[in-house]
Amino acid sequence: MIKHPFLSHRFVRSIPKELEPGVLYLSMEYGTSIHSCCCGCGNQVVTPFSPTDWQMSFDGESVSLSPSIGNWSFPCRSHYIVNKGHIIEAGQWSQTQVGAGRKQDRINKEHFYQSGPKTREKAGPSKTAKKGVLAKLGHWLFGG
Ligand SMILES: [Zn+2]
Repeated sequence: MIKHPFLSHRFVRSIPKELEPGVLYLSMEYGTSIHSCCCGCGNQVVTPFSPTDWQMSFDGESVSLSPSIGNWSFPCRSHYIVNKGHIIEAGQWSQTQVGAGRKQDRINKEHFYQSGPKTREKAGPSKTAKKGVLAKLGHWLFGG
């Protein structure tokens, strides 16, 4: 059962200690998102962003996560999709399906990390890159 059929998003710098139910916290700094399980059980669901974990899409108004979120390690075993902020119940998986999904996940990860050293680097601008841009901007602004 889904208690929170909608997740509003909140872009945060760091993840708060207390999670408000029905809110998806997104930290671009850490490349991850976290929310309180939509079934209402209160468990914290962490969905890190990576090519082999979750991908987030933000259309300016709402957030979608892909693939579906399967909370198999929680007693509730809830399984849902976050689509434009809406929670769509995705149905229960059997133990065999969970096992197969985990195996596929492992294969994907192995494949990904073997595909070259470049992919190991974190995506997005690094801290030094940002500083560089600011420094350049400073030079440009103040003619230094
Ligand atoms: Zn739950």
